[in-house]
Amino acid sequence: MKNLTMDKLVAHCKNTGILYPGSDIYDGLANTWDYGPVGVELKNNIKRIWWKRFVQESENSYGVDAAIMMNPRVWEASGHVQSFTDPKMDCKSCKSRMRADTLIENFSKGSVDVDAMTNDEMQDYINEHKIKCPVCGNFDWTPIRQFQLMFKTSRNITGDSNDVIYLRPETAQGEFVNFMNIQRTTRAKVPFGIAQVGKAFRNEITPGNFTFRTIEFEQMEHQWFCKNEEEGFKYYKEYKDKAWQFLLDIGFNKDDLKFKDHEKLAHYAKAATDIIFNFPFGWNELNGIHYRTDYDLRRHQEYSGKNMMYIDPVTNEKYIPHDVEYSIGADRLTLAILCEFYDEETLENGETRIVYHFHPAIAPYKVAVLPLQKNMSEKAKEILKKLSKHFMCTYDESGSIGKRYRRQDQIGTPYCVTIDFETLENETITIRDRDTMEQKRVSIDELINFVKDKIEF
Ligand code: ATP
Repeated sequence: MKNLTMDKLVAHCKNTGILYPGSDIYDGLANTWDYGPVGVELKNNIKRIWWKRFVQESENSYGVDAAIMMNPRVWEASGHVQSFTDPKMDCKSCKSRMRADTLIENFSKGSVDVDAMTNDEMQDYINEHKIKCPVCGNFDWTPIRQFQLMFKTSRNITGDSNDVIYLRPETAQGEFVNFMNIQRTTRAKVPFGIAQVGKAFRNEITPGNFTFRTIEFEQMEHQWFCKNEEEGFKYYKEYKDKAWQFLLDIGFNKDDLKFKDHEKLAHYAKAATDIIFNFPFGWNELNGIHYRTDYDLRRHQEYSGKNMMYIDPVTNEKYIPHDVEYSIGADRLTLAILCEFYDEETLENGETRIVYHFHPAIAPYKVAVLPLQKNMSEKAKEILKKLSKHFMCTYDESGSIGKRYRRQDQIGTPYCVTIDFETLENETITIRDRDTMEQKRVSIDELINFVKDKIEF
């Protein structure tokens, strides 16, 4: 993560097809971002390896893809209608809207634990320290008010009725409401898990820091249902370890990650921690792990009137399962990866190369096919077609070979394949390694097996 500032990262992403501002030709829509051809591959690969680890390879875990718009009663049962709010203040001078907790966190450089403060305590702290508006520099705030974070839309069924529907602010409820369906149709025995990857929407007061906090984002969530409190604490610890190991396996340096336990627990949670990451703008949440007791299923039983009791097939015991939740933003993890694996290296000839040292499993393109001369393009395209059956490849025939290597380095392509005169004679190619920049000659079949082996996760 050498020399990386957020400005530099944003410019790099815009120039290389990783991310563009949303609705760019209309001057954008604040805090929305579109993934370009390179970024979409990266994010899809990240979602794929997460799913592989937490569903495919996780015994007794099942996937679901629930609707974004859910019965509004879901959000009453979950507590979101009543309490999914943030403490906001408006600057009377410049009309900027700020989160009171963020103002204090930034002012105190993280030394004050805002999670443990009430609104009155936050108000007192801001007044006492005369914390100014970061936009206009004035100290002219409205009092703190709670701000609803759920986006509302409406479903006009008859023309005269206007039913409010919310865009889901988290994917978790899609897993809870399907608990019984999934248990019944899979015959899963507790403990078992339900996972989902999908969009969530939050009317954030202070979005920003590129894709760190946006109003529309994707979450990857896994609920692990178990028997009771004792098991809840056991699996909470297990999921902390699993979440941490997943990041290390991607290649994160453990010095850039930390656990941050929650001091102030939500009323339903018995334990909660975040893994925080050393972003260029400071340490911030990457994912959360919560032991949520039997709160969620119990609330849905109460609000829906449907039985959420699990019956143990061996002992006939009846109980509402407890839940350990592991939740990580797909966009936030993508951003952390874009920060962590960025590098600028000085080469032997004095030039600097920007290089992304992504794990090959998440690299947007696995192989770039580069004909040394234009008259080799026919053969190169034939090889590209062959390789593309196995993994995502790209093709480049413009500019010097050195320039083409640089272009691939800066989007993290782990292998570049050059097509030369020898290829035309004996079907061998030269493969160049992104990290060592070493080259070796192999046959096309050897190349396919070699890359397949490297992209395993
Ligand atoms: P934060 O404290 O950053 O607002 P949170 O504690 O509200 O996050 P959760 O509700 O636990 O977050 O959501 C789980 C994960 O979803 C977060 O760890 C983060 O990775 C991601 N996430 C949450 N809000 C956003 C957002 N506005 N934009 C992008 N990702 C988000």
